[in-house]
Amino acid sequence: MPKDPHSWQYSRRDMLGILGLGVAASALPAAAAPQFPKGAIIRTILKDLPPEALAGGATLFHEHLSLAPDFMRRWILNSRAVNPQAGRGNATPPELPAQSNLFMSDLDLMTDEVKAAAQEGVACIVDGGHADMGRSLDFLKQLSERSGMPIVAGGGFYSQPFYPPEISTWSEDQIVEQLVRQANTEPIGVFGEIGSWDVITDDERKVFRAVAKAHRETNLSIFTHTGIPGKSAMEQLDILEGGGVKPDRIVIGHLGNLVDPDVKVQKEICKRGAFIGFDRQGGPGDARQVPMVLALIEAGYAGNLMFSSDISSANQIKKNGGGGYAKTVTIWGKKLTEAGVKDETLHSILVDNPRRFLAFVPKKKRPSA
Ligand SMILES: [Zn+2]
Repeated sequence: MPKDPHSWQYSRRDMLGILGLGVAASALPAAAAPQFPKGAIIRTILKDLPPEALAGGATLFHEHLSLAPDFMRRWILNSRAVNPQAGRGNATPPELPAQSNLFMSDLDLMTDEVKAAAQEGVACIVDGGHADMGRSLDFLKQLSERSGMPIVAGGGFYSQPFYPPEISTWSEDQIVEQLVRQANTEPIGVFGEIGSWDVITDDERKVFRAVAKAHRETNLSIFTHTGIPGKSAMEQLDILEGGGVKPDRIVIGHLGNLVDPDVKVQKEICKRGAFIGFDRQGGPGDARQVPMVLALIEAGYAGNLMFSSDISSANQIKKNGGGGYAKTVTIWGKKLTEAGVKDETLHSILVDNPRRFLAFVPKKKRPSA
């Protein structure tokens, strides 16, 4: 329990007000409502929603609700192959048990966690996993049904250490075929997370080119994963834009990891019209990222910011004393408010930007599966 539950109640009420849910909602200055293309929908795992349906809370554009039991262990081992110090900080135990992601197969537990997030102002969660990360679409469906939380499922291929072995032998067009088949047979609502693990590899370049082509066939937006610190971010954008994707359909991810008070790369990407992800929020990295976000808002780029927390390990959930799935709102959002970010700015970033990003006009009928 917080030392002073009374003050915590106030801050929670304030955050709900900022999201348009609480008693303070009427005090919120009316910001211009975001405009969506005619026929645009947000494809959740259970049904297609008009983007207006998610106006009542934050949409978290990059989280994980379903991963293979050994996902985090593989992730850390592969991170150490790049950087021997990876995963040795306080946030992650140095030696993870092989099954540390097993909690993501526990429907009762995950339902409680997601319901708690709804209470704290979250209206929709995007799951950034796909088959090569051990994500189960069936689990996401059950979780959405049980919790009532709209969930958007990602599609695609993750990054070099996680690719199925066929990726290196498939041609670019064969990968496009696989991606389009995913979009036409499964209710995925976005391509993501699409990654380069370290400096981008030839296979990863091929997948990025294929994702750009698959976007043109499906209209699904794209969010990416960059290796720490924001490695190959510009090249990711170059490949996607070069493949005909409009920058406002792209989030270049994990750019909070690229700590730079001048936010040079971040500004350059915003200037080109893409979104940038501050998407591992609500933790120890926040302190260095608050001034970066202030600088970007000051420079006029609030419309390009996307916030999330990329939850992927057991120590982050409420049951284990972590901030839970709403921590982007309750912890990170609160820090921004305290640093002087205006309520209407925060509201537009948490509620409107992700809907503008996710909303798309489908080229084909929703898959019946
Ligand atoms: Zn992720």
